[in-house]
Amino acid sequence: MASQRKFFVGGNWKMNGNKQSIDEIVKFLKAGPLSENTEVVVSPPSLYLEYVQQSLGGSVGVAAQNCYKVPKGAFTGEISPAMIKDVGCQWVILGHSERRNVFEESDELIGQKVAHALSEGLKVIACIGEKLEEREAGKTEEVIFKQMLAIVPNVKDWSQVVIAYEPVWAIGTGKTASPEQAQEVHQSLRAWIAKNVAPDVAAAVRILYGGSVNGGNCKDLGSKPDIDGFLVGGASLKPEFVQIVNARS
Ligand code: PEP
Repeated sequence: MASQRKFFVGGNWKMNGNKQSIDEIVKFLKAGPLSENTEVVVSPPSLYLEYVQQSLGGSVGVAAQNCYKVPKGAFTGEISPAMIKDVGCQWVILGHSERRNVFEESDELIGQKVAHALSEGLKVIACIGEKLEEREAGKTEEVIFKQMLAIVPNVKDWSQVVIAYEPVWAIGTGKTASPEQAQEVHQSLRAWIAKNVAPDVAAAVRILYGGSVNGGNCKDLGSKPDIDGFLVGGASLKPEFVQIVNARS
């Protein structure tokens, strides 16, 4: 039976862009055409969330790249899920490898953020992934299952969550996991979810692949049965993002 999971493509712009370059991205997103069979969400720097939300006019979802674990208060530099919702956005990316590895966010903090974001009504793109030395030591599953264990107790409604498997060695490096390597991890992750959460959640939850996805490799990756879409960094700033959105069409 073909998967009932709607293909999902997220564009993580990271700390890139200004109003002028954002206008260009909005232009190619509006021109598309973007497949109706794909849910599309872009994630600008927080300063531009409202600008992007208004420019896109609801045709594409908008995600913050991060948020804090409480609604408000003395947390200089942070933004809350309530604020993200207040400017009209619906999604937040949590646990991105750059948050984990550059800003040293722990599994525990990411779990707390997931709980708070969901309780405030935001949908979450929850990221997990192993480093190169962990893969080479045969620890990929151990690492990602441990990251999952910090997320799972904080989710009540899995329809509000997508998981992004992003091997750290493939992010921004031009080194993509092969479709077979990615499928192998996605399949074992889905089996882990069936065992540790519930079989119906495992069947329904979307597991995205992230790591140097581009217009050239997206069709092969997207043809794998457990790859339900992508989280895209570099290529989400370029017109080829439209091709990635349409990878399954
Ligand atoms: C990312 O930042 O989530 C990512 C996958 O980046 P890139 O596509 O540039 O590897």
